[in-house]
Amino acid sequence: MSLDTIRRRIAETAREAGRDPADVTLVAVSKMQPESHVLPVLEAGQRVFGENRVQEAQNRWGALAPRFPGVEIHVIGPLQTNKARAAMEIASAIHSLDRPKLAETLARLAQERGACPDLFVQVNTGEEPQKAGVLPAEADGFVARCRDLDLPVVGLMCIPPAEEDPAPHFDMLREMAGRNGLAGLSMGMSGDFEAAIARGATHVRVGSAIFGARD
Ligand SMILES: *Cc1c(COP(=O)(O)O)cnc(C)c1O
Repeated sequence: MSLDTIRRRIAETAREAGRDPADVTLVAVSKMQPESHVLPVLEAGQRVFGENRVQEAQNRWGALAPRFPGVEIHVIGPLQTNKARAAMEIASAIHSLDRPKLAETLARLAQERGACPDLFVQVNTGEEPQKAGVLPAEADGFVARCRDLDLPVVGLMCIPPAEEDPAPHFDMLREMAGRNGLAGLSMGMSGDFEAAIARGATHVRVGSAIFGARD
């Protein structure tokens, strides 16, 4: 699929759901993609990109971002505390705030820098042992803790279990965000971004549908 097709489907789905397409941000997930796949997407005007790994984001975007004014990097993958500083320097948003230790580290660095990227708390809606994220039962408490630390939490993020219907997970995330007064919902990937938009996603993270399969 081309970037144009994805954009059109995002806009159509938003309108069908009675939403303003401008309220849905496409995060083009460029992780593990060769530059030859990323350049045409930049040239087509896409400016918000998602990267899983801080190191990879630095390598790619350190050189590329200055050539394309307005580029924004969102860190969407698990973040080690020793990479938190670098993540804050490169990213305008972090979608994977998933534990108290990371919250404390980000808070300390935010104080030091006087700035902090927008933060999404990742919720492990499927309660999968191998997956990052706070458990649903802990989400409200964790959001409150982050606010106590003055962290700019703007929303919640989830990655539903691969084998399940994602809709109940999207619904759960939306309810959680609502009761915590959070406007942002980072949910939906290549296979399910339309279902996510129908359920309120404000940020869809789409990789392979734009760039092709990763190696
Ligand atoms: C890789 C990744 C995506 C994009 O997945 P696609 O299926 O290629 O669209 C989205 N979110 C996260 C957290 C990812 O790691």
